[in-house]
Amino acid sequence: MSVRSRSEALFAESLKHTPGGVNSPVRAFRAVGGTPFFAASASGARVTDVDGNSYIDYVGTWGPAILGHAAPPIVRAIQNAAERGTSFGIPHAQEVTLAQRVKAMVPSVDKVRFCNSGTEATMSAIRLARGFTGRDRIIKFDGCYHGHSDGLLVKAGSGALTLGNPDSAGVPADVARQTLVLPFNDPEALRTAFREHGPELAAVILELVPANAGLYLPRPGYLELLRELTRANGTVLIADEVMTGFRLGPAGAQGRFGLTPDLSCFGKIIGGGLPVGAFGGRADIMDRLAPLGPVYQAGTLSGNPLAMAAGLAALETLEATDAWNRLESLGAELEQGLSAVAKAAKIPVCFQRIGSMFCGYFTDRPVWNLADALHSDRARFARFFHGMLDRGIYLAPSQFEAGFISSAHASADIEATVRAAEAVFATL
Ligand SMILES: *Cc1c(COP(=O)(O)O)cnc(C)c1O
Repeated sequence: MSVRSRSEALFAESLKHTPGGVNSPVRAFRAVGGTPFFAASASGARVTDVDGNSYIDYVGTWGPAILGHAAPPIVRAIQNAAERGTSFGIPHAQEVTLAQRVKAMVPSVDKVRFCNSGTEATMSAIRLARGFTGRDRIIKFDGCYHGHSDGLLVKAGSGALTLGNPDSAGVPADVARQTLVLPFNDPEALRTAFREHGPELAAVILELVPANAGLYLPRPGYLELLRELTRANGTVLIADEVMTGFRLGPAGAQGRFGLTPDLSCFGKIIGGGLPVGAFGGRADIMDRLAPLGPVYQAGTLSGNPLAMAAGLAALETLEATDAWNRLESLGAELEQGLSAVAKAAKIPVCFQRIGSMFCGYFTDRPVWNLADALHSDRARFARFFHGMLDRGIYLAPSQFEAGFISSAHASADIEATVRAAEAVFATL
C-alpha cells in the first residue's frame, strides 16, 4: 500500500475551495471510492504524484497524451512558440499549417475551425447543423458523451454516467426535448426515429466508437445505415472524434470504418495536451459560419499559438513515426496478457479494444451498447482499480471510461501491468 498522505492533505484543502475538490468530476474518484492522488509531474508513460509514487499511466490526461507525457517535440514546439507571443487574437501562420495538416489527414474535412475544447467543438457543430438545415431536432445515442453543453447532456456517458445523473440539473426541459436519444447499435430504433422525425432532424451526432461508457464498437453495417438515413433525410451527420481523432489512425474512426461524415469534431490529441478543439467538414456547411454566414461562433483564445504549435507537433510526430502501428501492437499485447490472466483467475471480463483504446468490463456478456455495459460489476471494478493503483498502475477511476496506451509505453510496461493484474485478480 503506497503512502499518499500529501495527496490526501491537498485534497482536503482543495475541498474547501473547489466543489468536490476537483475541476472535472471524474477526477474525484467517486466511482471507485477513496481520494485522488495529486500529480507532481509526468513524463513518457509515467505520472509521479506529490508523495513520490510513480504510476504507469493508462489515462494519458484522458486521451491527449498519445505520445506520452511531456513528449520532447511538443515541449520544444511550445517553448519556441511562447517566445514569440502567448496569444495574438490576430491570425497567424500556424493556424493555417494546422488546418492544412488536419485536412490532409482527414479527407472528409474541406474546412476547419479551431476552438478551445471538445465541448465547444460539438456545441458549435450542432449549432451549425441547425443553421444549415433550418431544423431544431437532433439525435444522440445513450452512453455517448459529447461534452457538457445543454442539449448534449442528455443520457450522456463519462462523468455524467458515473455520477448516476445522466440528465444534469440546470438543463431546461425545452432544450433537452430537442434531443432524441437512441440506443446505440440498434438499426430498428434508428429506422423508426427517421420514419417518425426524418424531416425535423438537423443532425445526428455520435462517437463512431463509443468510448465514454467504457468502450464498444459499431456492429457491421450500423454506420452505413446511419449514413444512408441521414443522407436521404438531409440530416447532417456529425462524427464526434474528440477521442478517436488521430488516435485510431490518421483519419480517426472514420478512416478506420470507411465513413464519410458531413462534419467532424476534434479535441484532445489535436491540441497536443493544450486546450484545443476543432470542428470541420463539408465546405458548403462550414461556410455558413460567421463571418461568411449567419451562424455565430467565436473565441478570444481560439487558434492560440501555443496550442496550434503543440497540436502541430503532435500530429507531425504521429505521422513521422507511424505511431499507429506501434500502438496497435502494444494494444494487442495488453489485450492478450490481460485476457489470459483474467481467464486463468476465472474472473469474467469482457475485454474490448480497438488500437490503443481499451476497456475491461467485469461482465460475462458481450457489450454492444450502454445497457450491456451497465451489467458490469462496478464494485469489483473498484477493487480492481485500487489494487492496480497500489501496484503502481493508474487506470481510469471508473468502469465507464476507456483506457489509453501511448507510444511512450514499452513492452516492459505492458508486461508489468499484466503481472500486476494477475496479482490483483487473485484477490478479487
Ligand atoms: C472528451 C470528449 C468531449 C469533450 O471534450 P472536452 O475537451 O472535455 O470539452 C467530447 N466528445 C468526446 C467523444 C469526448 O471524448
